[in-house]
Amino acid sequence: MKTVSVVIPMYYEEDVANLCYERVSAVLEELKKKYDYEIIFVNDGSKDKTLSILKEIASQNEKVKIVSFSRNFGHQAAVTAGIKEVSGDAVVIMDADLQDPPELIPDMLKLWEDGSEVIYGKRNTRKGESAFKLLTAKMFYSFLNAMSEVDIPKNTGDFRLVDRSVIDVINNLPEHNKFLRGLFSWVGFEQKEFLYDRPKRELGETKYPFKKMLKLAKDGIISFSTKPLKLVGGLGILSIFISFVILIYSILSYALNWNNLSDGWTSIMVSITFFAGVQLFSLWIMSEYISRIYDESKGRPEYIIKEKINFDKK
Ligand code: UDP
Ligand code: MG
Repeated sequence: MKTVSVVIPMYYEEDVANLCYERVSAVLEELKKKYDYEIIFVNDGSKDKTLSILKEIASQNEKVKIVSFSRNFGHQAAVTAGIKEVSGDAVVIMDADLQDPPELIPDMLKLWEDGSEVIYGKRNTRKGESAFKLLTAKMFYSFLNAMSEVDIPKNTGDFRLVDRSVIDVINNLPEHNKFLRGLFSWVGFEQKEFLYDRPKRELGETKYPFKKMLKLAKDGIISFSTKPLKLVGGLGILSIFISFVILIYSILSYALNWNNLSDGWTSIMVSITFFAGVQLFSLWIMSEYISRIYDESKGRPEYIIKEKINFDKK
């Protein structure tokens, strides 16, 4: 029998912890004939009753496992820790606040049985989220896609069902500050989008204040793009170009006796723009090296092999 693992990060979720367990376990108990299950809760350094509630649940159901952090390390770290501990064949990652409805798991499992390996939840509609959050999220994904080398689907969070083979690849990536939704799309495999309506948070408040959202956005852009570094190269070339335009304009002015330039204007303007350009251009060359170093230090593999055929034959 195959096993489904569900990974749920929790940060100050005492209001919702019990309800979350009830709804997730109800769905998984329904599926019991076909799948065994485990639920891994990751307590991301909450100082409220979250952990004691989880311990109570775990004492009643041994399929419930808990990983508890020494302090708050953030949502992405919590999910990263959770997926390291899974033993299942299919892994579901979802939020504690039930904005990712567990009742969708059976449908996602069907897609998984049909051969999809990464089934990612894509938000059709989002209820109860501020106009500000919706706008910033939209801007962020457009910007990220413009900047980065991989396509990261819009309107997706970390809600997804992932095949074990993909989880193993992610677990073996040595990079820190993982931007999981980007990595899950970067790894390839059979990706499948799963549309759903995102309800509002059941109980409690968002644990993603603006500061945490900014960090997530920064991690996403920096770890999936070296374009910001290259931007300075473009600026350098532009600046050198401007210096030539000024030079030609000044030569014309002197040659045709326009008498419209004060003394010294040409030499100052040309040297400022030209040397600014040269400096930016040299920065760009350096940044090309830095971006190589950065790529190497992330330690991502150059390719991922999904299967090899006939290599075991003599
Ligand atoms: N979370 C976490 N650590 C944090 C912040 C959030 O583990 O530092 C968890 C939180 O408990 C929830 C999930 O990440 O299960 C998503 O957080 P939330 O629902 O507050 O974010 P939103 O839906 O508002 O973007
Ligand atoms: Mg939420």
